[in-house]
Amino acid sequence: MINTLKTKEKRTEINYSSLCVRCGKERVFSKRWKEKVKTFTGFVEVTHVEMLCPDGECQMLVDGIMAGKKEKREQMEKIKSDRMKRVKRTA
Ligand SMILES: [Zn+2]
Repeated sequence: MINTLKTKEKRTEINYSSLCVRCGKERVFSKRWKEKVKTFTGFVEVTHVEMLCPDGECQMLVDGIMAGKKEKREQMEKIKSDRMKRVKRTA
């Protein structure tokens, strides 16, 4: 149980230092902003931190990759829901 917790902590640390997914360079701080998020109990202030690759060109490519991934995922979800509808119709 303790071991599992330790592994989890380590993983969070790696995410926080955030290396560039493309070139593996350590990302640099870009901006920090606060946002109020509504929860069941009220508003919670969340601090967002944006980290970018020190290589501007690389970061642009990474943004492109991310956008492409998102598009692909949305497409996949659409196909999946279409398929579900079809299944419902035949059933
Ligand atoms: Zn990079």
